[in-house]
Amino acid sequence: MPATKLKYKLVTVPNPVLRQTSKRVGIVNEHTQEVIQAMEASMLKWETSRKHEVGVALAATQVGELLRIIIVRNNFDDKNDRTFSVFINPVITKFEGTMIEDFEGCLSVKDIYGKVPRYSKVRVKAKDLTGREFRVTATDFLARIFQHEVDHTNGKLFIDHIKDMPDAFYRLLPDGKLEKLDYDNEVKNSRILWK
Ligand SMILES: [Zn+2]
Repeated sequence: MPATKLKYKLVTVPNPVLRQTSKRVGIVNEHTQEVIQAMEASMLKWETSRKHEVGVALAATQVGELLRIIIVRNNFDDKNDRTFSVFINPVITKFEGTMIEDFEGCLSVKDIYGKVPRYSKVRVKAKDLTGREFRVTATDFLARIFQHEVDHTNGKLFIDHIKDMPDAFYRLLPDGKLEKLDYDNEVKNSRILWK
């Protein structure tokens, strides 16, 4: 859909839209569908330019639409699988398990990775494209994804969780390796901690 591509663009920091709270989707209509298509197209386009990264999930705010919609890749391990699941008005109803620190990146925060503490298990409630409510229980990496994406719908970014953690910041190098950032010189007071 060429029209979609022209209208929506991947939003990155320091675009203030990333700090705004998204609205709930009332009725799933043509506009909702258009936004979802734009999200998928934006993520796949981004992915072709990123040799060492896979687009696993995206929130509507990242294409500039303040709607509570997230999409999650159905298969994280296979770049050729370009299908997604859609979660409308997603809410985490329960945080469970233990806190686990692991690497996390974001299409809207280029080249920066963080070791972010997240719950290992969450329960999520959402609506599908027909408006039907459904629930999922997610663990490990998928639980991390839901926490990251639901944060987006509330104007929050992964860097907010680690802003006071000197050992949590990394930079993605051109060869795909992660290099630890010097917190005092490269993170603190820098644009990485943008608000
Ligand atoms: Zn993100």
